[in-house]
Amino acid sequence: MSGYDLVVRSRRTVTPDGERAASVAVRDGRIAAVGAYGDAIEAAEDIDLRDLALLPGLVDTHVHVNEPGRTHWEGFASATRAAAAGGVTTIVDMPLNSLPPTVTVDALDAKLRAADGQCHVDVGFWGGAIPGNVKDLRPLHDRGVHGFKCFLSPSGVEEFPPLSPSEVRQALTELAGFDGLMVVHAEDPALLAEPAGPTYREFVDSRPGAAERSAVEQVIRLGRETGARVHILHVSSADCLEPLAAAQAEGVRITAETCPHYLTLAAEQVPEGETAYKCCPPIRSAANRDRLWDGLAGGVLSCVVSDHSPAPADLKVPSFAAAWGGIASLQLGLPAVWTEASRRGHGLADVVRWMSTQPAAMAHISGKGGIKVGNDADLVAFDATAVNPVDAARLHHKNPVTPYHGHLLKGAVLTTWLRGRPTDGVPHGAFLLGEQ
Ligand SMILES: [Zn+2]
Repeated sequence: MSGYDLVVRSRRTVTPDGERAASVAVRDGRIAAVGAYGDAIEAAEDIDLRDLALLPGLVDTHVHVNEPGRTHWEGFASATRAAAAGGVTTIVDMPLNSLPPTVTVDALDAKLRAADGQCHVDVGFWGGAIPGNVKDLRPLHDRGVHGFKCFLSPSGVEEFPPLSPSEVRQALTELAGFDGLMVVHAEDPALLAEPAGPTYREFVDSRPGAAERSAVEQVIRLGRETGARVHILHVSSADCLEPLAAAQAEGVRITAETCPHYLTLAAEQVPEGETAYKCCPPIRSAANRDRLWDGLAGGVLSCVVSDHSPAPADLKVPSFAAAWGGIASLQLGLPAVWTEASRRGHGLADVVRWMSTQPAAMAHISGKGGIKVGNDADLVAFDATAVNPVDAARLHHKNPVTPYHGHLLKGAVLTTWLRGRPTDGVPHGAFLLGEQ
């Protein structure tokens, strides 16, 4: 074997067949060969990670970059630098909280102009489905968005209103015509309330698991009726697992994700006033968290993605009723999940399936999500045993606000390669636009 640009060897290479000793040879930005660990390979650069793990780059399909418009919350340069430092080589940007929200082709073009030249990892885009923009869905799809996000309850920003059930039906009918995907923030507004007071308990009580379950059941009904592909975002309540499992068994085209914070944090440990922990739906009990892990292990939940949704510290006032919701964790998802997954007996291959392979499949991102010949050479050297305390101020996130501050997390990303090149130099991320 000769003429490669790079070969990376590791005794813990995570391939689609599991973890094994292997060498990964790269040519022109793609994985050109996967061989035995000790194979003689002629390459311009030969890196031996020995017992450090080699993973495919993670695919985080739930990131709020917020640029243009709220760039002081997060921007493409800072978000993608954080992603790369966290082993994430592909993000898919949410259509809100940027201004304008990505609900028309013109708005998508404004976002592409804002992001141009700034991206350290590859970036795809979700469009938004809001009241009145059904006519924009097909043009956005044709322009290359990976699907559409909608809310069933207020989103928190007035420029991105929720859809009524009949509007969801109308949008799904439109999407079914071109096999588009709808990703849904599923909380039933009829079962949400204003928090009775500022405490965490009062906040959780205002957004009960029943609101999630009711909304999920509604999406299942509409998915079944229209035949459209649907995906439930950020499942927090394990009460959603039963209807999701039944719908999947029945053949409804529905998938679901959860997030690192629901898998690693618990309501019982949220310090009063620490609104870095506030997100919607909320972090629930430790017992609920155990059931989410069962849902992952059983495959009802297929993806673990960050829902990185940062805000400046001044919006995180110390009242859970008043603070802005959203957890910043893009750089920390891998060590957070690995810390808890390894404690619960899962391997790196499981984590890669949840955080790379299955998100790529869900969003129809080709050439990503696994170490196999023909895929982009998106690779991560990962020390699976290092334990480090999180210092929010040292993260690449624009705002040093995260509930993981001070937590001890296992696993450290040492090098990230995007299409065969390290990500710590000139930004060389590409936009992932195309026929989905
Ligand atoms: Zn989100």
